Amino acid sequence: MDWATIFIHDTTWTFAAEISIRVVLMFSMIMIFLRLTGKRGIRQLSIFELAIILSLGSIAGDPMFTEDLPLIQALLIMSIVIILYRLTTWLMMKYQPFEDLIEGTSLYIVEDGMLVLDKIKRGKMSHDEFFAEMRQQGIEHLGQVRAGLLETDGEFSILLFKPEEVRYGLPLFPKQYQQTTQVKPEICYACMYCGYVAYISKPDQQCSRCKCCRWAKAMNEQMLR
Ligand SMILES: [Zn+2]
Repeated sequence: MDWATIFIHDTTWTFAAEISIRVVLMFSMIMIFLRLTGKRGIRQLSIFELAIILSLGSIAGDPMFTEDLPLIQALLIMSIVIILYRLTTWLMMKYQPFEDLIEGTSLYIVEDGMLVLDKIKRGKMSHDEFFAEMRQQGIEHLGQVRAGLLETDGEFSILLFKPEEVRYGLPLFPKQYQQTTQVKPEICYACMYCGYVAYISKPDQQCSRCKCCRWAKAMNEQMLR
């Protein structure tokens, strides 16, 4: 192994100077092109926006240090990508089905304090993920949630029940999200898979909604804000 080859190889002072010029130019180009996308800033990226950022990034990288790569080619490619981006966003504004195809649609994950079954079954989002999302918003159990939507940018939108409408629901915090082993008749239990609330007679009773057999003690605490 030759450390000189790994670190220096055939780099000359002249080429080092060229690299700095290339980097400054490419960096300015990225800035200009990102401004041209018309976005104000970035919080969460949709898949489509991520694709644009990735392509711009990889187009910008190579010309920074590749001797025989003229910047005009990078400029050309970036222009085409931006034109495609603008064209696609324009089409998405015009035609809703096209937008759904490119960006996806928002999905109901929680409705009336229960998880929407076909969404969790199709693996759109894992239990852990949306439990964490709801916990971060200070939600203690599903009985507080009227609707939970997964937006196309990966964000989670939540509507809560009014305090007096809060019902029994599945706990979301680990200490309360525990499988019950002994059933008491006067206590409400929540299915640990789908959030369905019921009075049960034995700890491994099958959930009438999702056929799961694990239950946790349901909670009906109101939200404290
Ligand atoms: Zn269930």
